[in-house]
Amino acid sequence: MFKSSVTIMHVMGIPIRLHVSFLVVLPFLAVVIGNNIGVISEMAGVEAGLLAAHPFTLGFVLAVLLFTSVALHELAHSVVAMRQGMEIHAITLMLLGGVAEIEEATDERDELWMAFAGPALSLVLGLLLLFVVRPAATGLPADMRLVIYYVGYMNIFLAAFNMIPAFPSDGGRILRSALARRTSYLRATQIATAFGRAFALLFGLFGFLIGNLILVLIAFFIYIGASQEYQANVLRDVFSDFRVRDLMTREVATIKVDMTVQELMDRMMQETHSGYPVLDEGGNLVGCVTLGDIRSLPDIPPDTMRVGEIMSRELISVHPGEDLFSAFKKLSEEDIGRLFVMEGGGLVGIITRSDIMKAYRVRELREEQARIQR
Ligand SMILES: [Zn+2]
Repeated sequence: MFKSSVTIMHVMGIPIRLHVSFLVVLPFLAVVIGNNIGVISEMAGVEAGLLAAHPFTLGFVLAVLLFTSVALHELAHSVVAMRQGMEIHAITLMLLGGVAEIEEATDERDELWMAFAGPALSLVLGLLLLFVVRPAATGLPADMRLVIYYVGYMNIFLAAFNMIPAFPSDGGRILRSALARRTSYLRATQIATAFGRAFALLFGLFGFLIGNLILVLIAFFIYIGASQEYQANVLRDVFSDFRVRDLMTREVATIKVDMTVQELMDRMMQETHSGYPVLDEGGNLVGCVTLGDIRSLPDIPPDTMRVGEIMSRELISVHPGEDLFSAFKKLSEEDIGRLFVMEGGGLVGIITRSDIMKAYRVRELREEQARIQR
C-alpha cells in the first residue's frame, strides 16, 4: 500500500517500515521537542541546568523514542491480530504516527480486542515508566530522568488520543464493534463513521478558532480516514456476502487459437463481445484476446494473422468458491476487465466488473425482501 517506504527491520516476522515523510518529520519533531526542553524538564521535575546533553540531542532521542512507542503500539495490535489468525503485511511509521496493515477482521469481536490492544499497551507502558520506574525518585542522571518521564507521558497521551471515538481510530473501532452487537456491521460502520466525521469537524473548528493549524490538519486527516474506511467497508460488506460462482457467467463463448484475426472480428461484431478466452486444440485455456489487442495491431491484413499471435498469455483467474471481494480486489489491482473462473484446471466461467456490480442490486433486493417479510 505505502510504496514510498523502506523496511528497517523485522519484528516477529513483521516488516517495520519507515515512510519517506519520516525524513522530514523526525528532524522537525527533534527541533520542536528540543525547543521545548525547558517546559518538559519543568514538567518532569528536573532542573534544566543539570541536563548534560544539548537540547536538540535530547529532542532527537525523544523523537526516536516517540516513534518507537508508536511502533510498539502498532505491534500490540498486530500480535492480537496474528493470534486470531489474521495476516499482518507490515507496520509503516509515517507522518501522523503509525499504520499496521492488518488483513481486515470480519468478526466484530476480533476487532474489539485488536483495537483495544494498542491503547492498552501504551497506557501500561506509560504508567509503568511514570509510576513504577518513577524517574524522579531514581538516582539516575538528569537527562535519563527527563527521557523516562517524557516517554511515559507520551505513551499515556498516545493511549488517550487513540481512544477518542473518531472512527477509524482505535476508539472508533471499539465503538463500532460495540454497536455491531445491536445492529448490522454495515449500520454500525455508518454510525461510527458519522461520529468520526462530526468529531473531525468539531476538532477542526476548535483548531481554527484557537489558530492551531496542526489541529486543523489532524482533523482533516481524521475526516478523510473516516470516509475512506467507510467506502472500503461497504464494498467488503456487500461483496463478501457472495461467492464468485453466484454471479459469474457460466456459458463462456470461447475461440480457437488458430482462428484468424478477421474471423475473430466478425465473431465480435455478431456476438457483441469485446473479449474471449482462447483455447488450444486440446481445449485448454491458453490466453485471452480483447478488442484492445486488435486495436493495437500494426497494419497487417487481419486475415493473415492468427489469434495466437496477438492474444495475451497472462491469465488471471479466480476459484468459483472465492468471495466476491477478493475477485474485486484482483480486478482493481491488475486493472483488468475480466477474470477467468477456473476449477480443477478447467475454465468454468468468467466474471467481469459488471457481474460484480450486480451484487449491489441483488443485495438491495434481498434487503427489500427481508423488510417486506418482517
Ligand atoms: Zn492504535
